[in-house]
Amino acid sequence: MKYVSTRGAWRGAPQPFSAILLEGLAPDGGLAVPLAYPRLTRDELAALRPLSYPELASAILARFADDIAHADLDDLVRLTYTRARFGSSDITPLTTLEPGVHLLHLSNGPTLAFKDIALSLLGNLFEHALRGERLNILGATSGDTGSSAEYAMLGKQGIAVYMLSPRGRMSAFQQAQMYSLDAPNIHNLAIEGTFDECQDIVKVLAGDAAFKRRHALGAVNSINWARIAAQVVYYFKGYFAATRSDDERVAFAVPSGNFGNVLAGHVAREMGLPVQRLVVATNENDVLHEFFASGRYRPRVAAETHATSSPSMDISKASNFERYMFDMAGRDADVLAALWRDLRAGGSFDIAGTSVATRVRASGFVSGRSTHADRIATIRDVKRRYDVLVDPHTADGLHVARAHREPGVPMICLETAQPAKFAATIREALAIDPPRPNVFEGLESRPQHCTVLPADADAVATFVRDHDVSG
Ligand SMILES: *Cc1c(COP(=O)(O)O)cnc(C)c1O
Repeated sequence: MKYVSTRGAWRGAPQPFSAILLEGLAPDGGLAVPLAYPRLTRDELAALRPLSYPELASAILARFADDIAHADLDDLVRLTYTRARFGSSDITPLTTLEPGVHLLHLSNGPTLAFKDIALSLLGNLFEHALRGERLNILGATSGDTGSSAEYAMLGKQGIAVYMLSPRGRMSAFQQAQMYSLDAPNIHNLAIEGTFDECQDIVKVLAGDAAFKRRHALGAVNSINWARIAAQVVYYFKGYFAATRSDDERVAFAVPSGNFGNVLAGHVAREMGLPVQRLVVATNENDVLHEFFASGRYRPRVAAETHATSSPSMDISKASNFERYMFDMAGRDADVLAALWRDLRAGGSFDIAGTSVATRVRASGFVSGRSTHADRIATIRDVKRRYDVLVDPHTADGLHVARAHREPGVPMICLETAQPAKFAATIREALAIDPPRPNVFEGLESRPQHCTVLPADADAVATFVRDHDVSG
């Protein structure tokens, strides 16, 4: 399996997995994508059904990471996907709310959000790939990536983390979870700005080749292809858990922000998983929903990004959307690059009436949005009807899923976080405190460690320079 850039780089010299592992961004600013998706035959799909989570992960990841020795990959996967880390040997258990409506629980990892599934693996993959070299991980978080990445990299040899977060825009729990970590290799940078501004700073610094080389920068943001590959696994797991035969088709509802989670569903579908629909659920930041409804993609500027009760989705410029559009452009980097030129020049592009629109319609994607009131109503409704507590992100997915049910097609709603992370919203909906795992008792009253910086790439560059111990 070799990789090319969405904007054309590496066309003449596709890269192996190990070359894109630490980052995923190509020199032309595009994103690494497989030269072609691995297609599973019916027999190959059938052979995956009985596998345990680690076995399934190993079988799927081996298709994308074929330059890691299979035995090593097996070890890394077994080390990552344990009952101790994820609470059950299913890793991503499926529960049924009512016949045909399921929750796929992705948030039973160490930081109670679905990001743990990919980032826990990344920590082990990075350590394996570095073989003693150093790596400075520069990342941006809207709330959950940060703590997940920091927990995954805690104590890893030769790895330091610089995590940018939008100051005052995360839940109290999310903030405490990150800032209470006190480890020499973890640096929390609280940026006076939005998540999109944090993400832009990371892009500027990672795009500065000299700076990047000097400080051995790597990325764990959702542009990292290995994260997408790791997420493909639970689409298969969820499909097998919700069906009895490979003739059945299912739909997935995915609370979306940076488009990384649902992109993994798209990849699973391209690999041959029988997926009828991928439901993209957004909150009030509905750039993606607008695109699927109208054909027009118009990312918003930071000032237009709403702070909502589903903060991990407060994103108006979804990085991974480019990978999806590359496929919709017929995997033609020139067509993709032309769309992105329109975007830079006029702030939007419109595919209505083009062959790209035809491919989008055939890709199984549909969309919807929720408001704060919708999420509150859904949290109440799910509690009353099924006695199940869901967080506001999962509630967003459930709300949007309702409009896209099709008879005979099971709807698998992805649970992306635990309610404990968003206690204020749960209190508003139900006047109760969500239960929280023992290890997080008293979290918010622990001492917090962060450095406040302006939304300015130079300020962040200076911080990295001053703290890169070996550089
Ligand atoms: C990150 C996150 C999302 C959005 O996922 P993307 O891959 O960015 O689309 C949704 N819900 C929760 C709880 C998250 O942490």
